[in-house]
Amino acid sequence: MQSEPPIVIAGGGPVGVVTALALAQQDLEVQVFEAEARVNDSPRAATTHAATLEMLESLGIVEEVMRRGLIEPKFRIWDRTNREIIAEFDFGLLKNDTRYPYVVQCEQHKLADIAVNRLRALPNATVEFSARVTSFVQHGDRVDVDVETRAGTRRVAASYLIGADGGRSTVRKALDIEFEGYTHPERFLVLTTTHGFSGVLAECSRNYYSDPDEWAALFKVAGDDGKGRWRVLFPTRPNETDERAFDEAAIQERLQKFFPKPGSYPVVHRNIYHVHQRVAASFRRGRVFLAGDSAHVNNPLGGLGLNFGIHDGMELSSLLAHVIRKESSPQILEFYDRFRRPLNVEYVQQQTVANKKRLEEKDPAARAKHHADLRATAADPAAHRAYLLRASLIDSVRKRQVAAA
Ligand SMILES: Cc1cc2nc3c(=O)[nH]c(=O)nc-3n(C[C@H](O)[C@H](O)[C@H](O)COP(=O)(O)OP(=O)(O)OC[C@H]3O[C@@H](n4cnc5c(N)ncnc54)[C@H](O)[C@@H]3O)c2cc1C
Repeated sequence: MQSEPPIVIAGGGPVGVVTALALAQQDLEVQVFEAEARVNDSPRAATTHAATLEMLESLGIVEEVMRRGLIEPKFRIWDRTNREIIAEFDFGLLKNDTRYPYVVQCEQHKLADIAVNRLRALPNATVEFSARVTSFVQHGDRVDVDVETRAGTRRVAASYLIGADGGRSTVRKALDIEFEGYTHPERFLVLTTTHGFSGVLAECSRNYYSDPDEWAALFKVAGDDGKGRWRVLFPTRPNETDERAFDEAAIQERLQKFFPKPGSYPVVHRNIYHVHQRVAASFRRGRVFLAGDSAHVNNPLGGLGLNFGIHDGMELSSLLAHVIRKESSPQILEFYDRFRRPLNVEYVQQQTVANKKRLEEKDPAARAKHHADLRATAADPAAHRAYLLRASLIDSVRKRQVAAA
């Protein structure tokens, strides 16, 4: 056990608690403070890629994630205008690259719950809900962190502080680190239906629909009862209010346009998200680090944001363990910002921006070219594999390993 104070993590979202587990399993003392009273179960990430599944395996939680999720080796990109599949990609082609040649569709609140339960069983970890990190002061040998709880505010000494406190990160703002990038003018509407799609639609649980007027994405998740739910993602229209987007008739009209069927859709959940492409100007200042959405946010097309955030946490936990155990000089902590930031720009920002552009393209010639490129990539085994290595973040992990060698 370390003689220094614990590592404190602001934020008990999936990145915060998985990072805490990675630290605690290396015998480090860790305290997680989560502002809300419980794990947030609103529908957000579900897609867990191969590179991340390998990391979750190293933490001993991959079987549970697979058991509570759905395994899907394929994804399809459709042309909504003629209802044809433009291209189908198959992670099965990566069978020699990973032990997990598929994605697991496991909702992020399940991943967070799994990690919290594991942390609770460890003597060197605590997770406190209804506890908000409000401010901190850095010293040469520690960080004093103020935590606001129902019982009042208390000061906690930390050897290091990790801000895993989401896109609006208090930690990032307190460090005065700019969140560089932009916010998309449209927001994303997420609808969850208990309708069970059948036929060709049910063959694959990850589908993207290109359409010059209004694109969409259709995903299946297991749901808390394991019975299966489909989620549909649409961009909101210019100046569309929440009230208009959530209007029952408007929702039915949107769904029917993409997936016509007799009778209306049972919609059990609806949500609207602002969508950004932003990366923090720096992921570290002194003894304070940013991980997950506090460091980078992106559109969800491709399912990369949380995956990359977990990779942040794994890298950071390994670097901190080496330093705290005095196996390496604190200088290695510089690697975190030096590698994570450019990797995010190259593999997450560029990819998700390209994914969105391809679905929403209005220019007929550019659209035809995107579709021809997708068909050619899917038809050529080498190009298909290369595309999937990038889409699954295996490439970004390999690039980091090469840099470390
Ligand atoms: C519709 C949608 C679909 C998505 N799909 C995918 C996908 O398939 N795959 C993927 O990889 N990503 C996806 N994402 C992105 C993913 O949801 C985020 O990247 C992920 O939630 C980031 O996790 P996090 O722990 O960094 O942040 P968050 O999940 O935002 O958690 C931050 C936590 O910190 C807490 N907090 C905030 N401030 C404080 C404070 N001051 N003190 C203490 N606690 C604090 C919050 O309450 C929250 O619990 C999707 C996003 C959306 C909106």
